[in-house]
Amino acid sequence: TDFLLDASLRDDFPLLAQDVHPGQPLVFLDNAASSQRPRQVIDAIVHCYEHDYANVHRGIHVLSERSTDAYELARRKTQAFLAAEHAHEVIFTAGTTAGINTVARSWGDANVHAGDELLLTPMEHHSNLVPWFQLAERTGAVIRHMPMSDDGVLQLDRLDEVLTERTKLVAFTAVSNTLGTINPVEALCRRARAVGAVSLVDAAQSAPHLTTNVQQMGCDFLVFSGHKLCGPSGVGVLYGRETLLETMPPFLGGGSMINRVYDDRFTPADLPAKFEAGTPPIAGAIGLGAALDYLTAIGLERIAAHEHTLVERAWSGLSQIAGIRLLGPAPGGSDDPCRAGLVSFVLDRPHAHDIAQLLDRRGIAVRAGHHCTQPLHDRMGIAASTRASFYLYNTPAEVDLLIAALGEVRERFRPTGRRRRGRIDA
Ligand code: PMP
Repeated sequence: TDFLLDASLRDDFPLLAQDVHPGQPLVFLDNAASSQRPRQVIDAIVHCYEHDYANVHRGIHVLSERSTDAYELARRKTQAFLAAEHAHEVIFTAGTTAGINTVARSWGDANVHAGDELLLTPMEHHSNLVPWFQLAERTGAVIRHMPMSDDGVLQLDRLDEVLTERTKLVAFTAVSNTLGTINPVEALCRRARAVGAVSLVDAAQSAPHLTTNVQQMGCDFLVFSGHKLCGPSGVGVLYGRETLLETMPPFLGGGSMINRVYDDRFTPADLPAKFEAGTPPIAGAIGLGAALDYLTAIGLERIAAHEHTLVERAWSGLSQIAGIRLLGPAPGGSDDPCRAGLVSFVLDRPHAHDIAQLLDRRGIAVRAGHHCTQPLHDRMGIAASTRASFYLYNTPAEVDLLIAALGEVRERFRPTGRRRRGRIDA
């Protein structure tokens, strides 16, 4: 409890203060899908639209200058947040998915050839799988996966089995959105570089909770989304090392990404404009900058420690429920290196979707399904799971509500109990 953040910061988040059903206050435990935003972020977006909005990098008028300044300030805030060497290594995108597709199309099509290998992990989100499958289809490259233990930890001691001079790319998530595993990012990037492969870190689930330092990580690319770290939806970041981005052809073509356009050809703009075709997410980037300020002021170490306290409480409470299977590595203390603040589970009954529906009736929002990790669910031999994911504004009391409600749900579905099986009028 020493690590818990003050629950008064919930007051920053207007959305949290509501009953989602009569007499059922919202217990929002679906943060890995998308977080909520504090007033500070909402205000920054409102301020942009009410006072400073015009298209960026174009008009020579006051509003366009103000808008451009605010947009570029957001880029420098992101640079600082990532500890990137240069601001022009920060590309604003539509989100994690857009960032990965940009790398797959731009870097991938220019550098990957038949027989080359793309090394992924069994715990990737579909957005860090499908773009590489598409690249493999276009080029004849081969997809490989790192070995992983049954409790969902990558086996680095067996990495040599799959990481060779044929490996062109190592793409992996920093934190699993299903298992909650925190992966050894630095070690993986170092091993990738040692065989001449490029590394891409999917930071969608780590950037909101753990300190990101791209230079210390030694990664070539890193991507994340604004909407998972208290920022707006529709904006995200692609970080790329300058030397790589400079050699890469642009992906999307259009306005802003050009230096000069002729009748039948063009020359590309310098970084970062080369990768920001069209009108960018202006208010989105400004809102993202405000979100990074907000998180930095609280401190990501404190946020991670807070969530770790919550996940330990959830893990020990949930594991008492009959017929439950908790997924991923068990949290083993506040300095546990490989467990992030979410927990996924399956019950012998009822089905994950019924669980989510029953919890919703008590105001508890969780995610049910495969969480865009179908191959991982296949490997675990399950079709679906239920996930509770925590953020800085969640409280131990909310975790206790989840544990109690889930215990009652399981009880209700007891086959030999006096209550009729299948009744879901909780
Ligand atoms: N990777 C991971 C690990 C994720 O959790 C998510 C979002 N669920 C994504 C990628 C995709 O992010 P987005 O939908 O914002 O593009």
